[in-house]
Amino acid sequence: GGGEGVKGEKKKETKLGLTAKKDGDFGEWFSQVVVESEMISYYDVSGCYILRPYSYAIWDEIKNWFDARIKELGVQNAYFPLFITEDVLMTEKEHVASFAPEVAWVTRSGSSDLERPIAIRPTSETVMYPYYAQWIRSHRDLPLRLNQWTNVVRWEFKHPTPFIRSREFLWQEGHTCFATKEEADAEVYQILDLYRCVYEELLAVPVMKGIKSSKEKFAGALYTTTVEAFIPQNGRGIQGATSHCLGQNFSKMFGIEFETEDKTRAHAWQNSWGLTTRSIGVMVMTHGDDKGVVIPPRVAQVQVVVIPIPQAKLGDEAAAAMKERAAAIADALKAAGVRVNTDTRDNYTPGWKYNYWELRGVPLRIELGPRDMEGGCAMLARRDTGAKESVAWGELAARVPALLDQIQSDLFTKARAAFDGCVETALTWDDFMAALDRKHMVLAPWCDEEEAEEEVKKKSASKEAMGAKTLCLPLEQPDLPEGTKCFVTGKPAKNWALWGRSY
Ligand code: AMP
Repeated sequence: GGGEGVKGEKKKETKLGLTAKKDGDFGEWFSQVVVESEMISYYDVSGCYILRPYSYAIWDEIKNWFDARIKELGVQNAYFPLFITEDVLMTEKEHVASFAPEVAWVTRSGSSDLERPIAIRPTSETVMYPYYAQWIRSHRDLPLRLNQWTNVVRWEFKHPTPFIRSREFLWQEGHTCFATKEEADAEVYQILDLYRCVYEELLAVPVMKGIKSSKEKFAGALYTTTVEAFIPQNGRGIQGATSHCLGQNFSKMFGIEFETEDKTRAHAWQNSWGLTTRSIGVMVMTHGDDKGVVIPPRVAQVQVVVIPIPQAKLGDEAAAAMKERAAAIADALKAAGVRVNTDTRDNYTPGWKYNYWELRGVPLRIELGPRDMEGGCAMLARRDTGAKESVAWGELAARVPALLDQIQSDLFTKARAAFDGCVETALTWDDFMAALDRKHMVLAPWCDEEEAEEEVKKKSASKEAMGAKTLCLPLEQPDLPEGTKCFVTGKPAKNWALWGRSY
């Protein structure tokens, strides 16, 4: 099998790898892993990061998949400008009040001040809707369903973290208008399920679907639905993506009106929904380990790396045969639809290459050593578990895709078990705090009142830990027996909320 010839006589090599441990200093581990794997470079402007090809490729996979799904639903892509005039931005008061502190403004061109400062979009409701108002006249113009793939800028004050919270990020934002609330409601949940699929089926990251409390909902929305993920190492929930029903709130502000079939006038029902590059960060946090990132096969740019292990003492002929065999294996895998790379660099030892590809999270390594050449087989090594198996050359084209599927589903199963293990149920304040201090999420019955949420946030904060908030009201609600009391106020509970400390 492979592994021979690892300790080489090769020239000095730079040291690869992480010094921080995932279960030790998690924040430091994350910073190291995204940089060392060449996903991210830190940038001159605080809170902005360079997405290098190795992470952008993952965004491409997400984008291609999601873009095809929304087009099947009848959504079209368009592009609206980056800039917003002050007047338009101020149209929806509640919306702007929430975004105002984070809006970046252009105040100057060259050396002259602009007459009126111009805002850079933090999100595009106010950019798009004045034009929706012009375009929509009759019920025949509905539904109007547009999406754009763009960057947005939010000058966040909270500590920035690559992917997770950046001041400029990439996303898609869908903005749709319908004649009826029923249609709008249906789309909100269709999109939410696509977001679940991106996380669970592409990124192998478990999420919980839910509705945001009125305190946590998108400013100006009727209601916000969310997929919530969780990072066990630091016990923090993280909002994965959100699908909002805006109701008629914006259509009234922006005058998006239409003539109905029976010649009356009505305001459109609107939705907006967004998924950002944060998703990549959640994926890295979920699957990565002390050796580097672990990329689920479905989104991996390189799914398999073939590493020949030549040995000088066996001579040129053996080396040439091995090289040829490695190329043949790669071709057979490509033909089977596998994204494969052969690492034939001769200035690195095989051992160094193992570390290199492990750091980058390539799901499967194929080692081809002298003994494999004799036996007509190759050694497969899984990135996620380290498990190895020897497979005959003729069987690789069938075995490798099957194993990649297995890795994909094992990653998800493991992460799902970890997520589920971090959800506790609590009926009292003491149990709630105990669960939080175990770095868990807490499912607790509550009265659905904003003051209760404020109180929890205050009372659960300490010097070491931030206060907790509602992550969501899970769509799947456990039974709520009559007489159940809110764990904060003691008033009758209206529903179960999932609480946690969060990003
Ligand atoms: P929103 O338009 O506020 O609903 O945001 C849409 C989604 O963007 C949220 O659900 C988050 O997952 C994500 N998000 C929010 N702020 C940031 C940020 N600063 N960096 C990356 N992603 C973000």
